[in-house]
Amino acid sequence: MHELTISTTKKQQMIDITPQVKEAVMKSGVKDGVCIVYALHTTAGLFINENADPNICEDVLNSLSNMVPNHNNYKHDAIDNNAAAHIKTAIMGNNISLIIHNKAPVLGRWQAILFFELDGPRERKVLIKALGK
Ligand code: ZN
Repeated sequence: MHELTISTTKKQQMIDITPQVKEAVMKSGVKDGVCIVYALHTTAGLFINENADPNICEDVLNSLSNMVPNHNNYKHDAIDNNAAAHIKTAIMGNNISLIIHNKAPVLGRWQAILFFELDGPRERKVLIKALGK
């Protein structure tokens, strides 16, 4: 298992971790199998989408903010004032799985592995586990 540390610099942010995942899969020695990428967080997570146009990442963040108001009488806000970040992460998810073929994760032409931060800046951990032979 590979542990990736990500230091985010903004309140909300998207970071393309495709190169780090590819490197971890290569170093795992797995030629054919599956790879699980898992964020150890409740206000940050992972998804696959396009990063060739980074505006898409901004559009996703803005659309999430439109769907989930920052404050809406959330009960959790009384505890640490970040319920919206938890709700957005619940919508987006905190893990992805990939097929490994020829020692590399299989991705479509426009697909990138994106880590999102919704309550930064913080230091975040992502686990990468490759299974197979
Ligand atoms: Zn919280």
